[in-house]
Amino acid sequence: MIIAGNWKLNKSPYETKEFLQELITNTNNGCDGDFIVFPPQVSLMTCSDLLNESNIQWGAQNICTQESGAFTGETSVKHIKEMGGQYTLIGHSERRSLYFESNEDTHKKLTLTLAQGVKAMLCIGETLEQRNQGETKAVLEKQISEAFAGMASLDTQKILLAYEPVWAIGTGVVATKEQVAETHADIRSILATKWDQNTASSMKILYGGSVKPANCKELGELNGVDGFLIGGASLKTESFCEINQLTKT
Ligand code: PGA
Repeated sequence: MIIAGNWKLNKSPYETKEFLQELITNTNNGCDGDFIVFPPQVSLMTCSDLLNESNIQWGAQNICTQESGAFTGETSVKHIKEMGGQYTLIGHSERRSLYFESNEDTHKKLTLTLAQGVKAMLCIGETLEQRNQGETKAVLEKQISEAFAGMASLDTQKILLAYEPVWAIGTGVVATKEQVAETHADIRSILATKWDQNTASSMKILYGGSVKPANCKELGELNGVDGFLIGGASLKTESFCEINQLTKT
């Protein structure tokens, strides 16, 4: 299971250092796992310093749609690569809703990420209104096809998906087992139709949205759930590691 933490706008470089030192200690004491952390951009150098010799992977929560140039305040995937980061997180629902990130933007960011040999974790998910209207599969299909527009094949060693229903993010409302299982199956069927069965079955698909120690076990046991993208419960090493331990396969 991949256990990924999206810290959002939490943890300064100093707090990042404290967290990572604890996490490294825990992983050396039996809580080993497939961890990825996505700290705020200013804390990435701390990840580079502390994690590049470890098994814990890290990445940026966002990158610019451009590689370099006059784009004040942005971060380039080239910088992430130079620092040793393995991932970019692309299309998180907060980026889409608060910063108007479009599917076309996710496409540009994916293309730049893959061109640098960095791994991309693309977030997809529907709003509550879309789910209630029965539009979930259509919304996901559009997000997937526009993000991967023009890509004749998908490198599933370099691309991961995070299914995060918008209504479950930061709300304490977690999708039911049935909803997660059904939607992950829908995503695989979209991949099989647009690409092929091998792409569909080898793609790692994480679930995200109010994952915590109390609900991770039953979600982790579902077929087709390869890990979690965790917000709130990733901010303390105790809950982050507990989720890893409870869902270890
Ligand atoms: P949450 O956030 O676990 O706090 O719901 C998940 C996410 O936004 O990736």
